[in-house]
Amino acid sequence: ARRLTEAPYAFFTEELKRLDSERKLFVKELSAALDRQEFKLVYQPIYSFREDRIVCFESLLRWDSSEFGMVSPLEFISLLEESGMILEVGDWIIQEAAMQISKWRREGYPELYITVNVSVKQLLDETFISRVQHIVSETNASPDSLVFEITESVVVEDRETALLTVTKLNDLGISTALDDFGTGYSSLAILSLLPFQYLKVDRSFLDDLYSRESQAASVLKGIVSIASGLGQVTIMEGVETKAQMELLKELGADRIQGYYISKPVPPNQAFELL
Ligand code: C2E
Ligand code: CA
Ligand code: CA
Ligand code: CA
Repeated sequence: ARRLTEAPYAFFTEELKRLDSERKLFVKELSAALDRQEFKLVYQPIYSFREDRIVCFESLLRWDSSEFGMVSPLEFISLLEESGMILEVGDWIIQEAAMQISKWRREGYPELYITVNVSVKQLLDETFISRVQHIVSETNASPDSLVFEITESVVVEDRETALLTVTKLNDLGISTALDDFGTGYSSLAILSLLPFQYLKVDRSFLDDLYSRESQAASVLKGIVSIASGLGQVTIMEGVETKAQMELLKELGADRIQGYYISKPVPPNQAFELL
């Protein structure tokens, strides 16, 4: 009987030790990846109905690993956050996006901009604003060419710092977007808590449009209307079909993003889409 009760604990302890050492190895690999320049940014277009063209790209991180192949950010972003490496990698991401948009602007698209995903850990770090200021001045990027995408968890973690930081970003000329709206504990209150210029509605809304079409459509129409009343531009994520695009246009969404327009692609291919 004793064995039966003890064995599972021993097993779990061994298992946890193994996982912990695997985790440490993975963190080491990620650190080496930065040095080896294996991180890449890919770009997904955001299309504006009113202007009938691509007005922006979202930058998305990829790890092009010699050992593991192309690794999705979902596999390693949380490890970067837990290990604190997100600050260093995050700086690289902002710098890379800033250089890319400056290049595209010089090449004939002076109004184009790029959105950059910013982790809560980065945004709430006390050195964040000075890091951003430094990168913007080093790269000579125009602050209005960058938009930072932030998830609402920032408000849950530290509302005061979040408000202060987003306000400072706006003062620098960098706009912000609320990402993944409609997931987690989203409430409409979040829309007025921080001064966002853009609202990105999560693609989970689109599934509902199909299952309970009329109600989900009314909810979406309401969200678009509230956001618009707050002066926010709405971007619908994950649009995969023409039917979805047409319905969203009818509902008043300002912009769309998704495989229907294009998958995220490397910079040269992104430029071809313009
Ligand atoms: P996200 O910010 O919500 O990014 C949108 C994700 O949806 C991307 O996945 C994109 O490839 C995918 N997507 C775009 N259009 C469609 C579509 O029509 N259908 C479907 N099914 N998916 C679509 P990805 O690139 O794998 O990124 C996953 C998440 O990883 C991102 O979600 C974001 O939270 C995080 N992430 C990506 N790049 C960065 C980064 O540079 N920094 C930080 N902190 N997080 C990042
Ligand atoms: Ca995003
Ligand atoms: Ca999103
Ligand atoms: Ca997401």
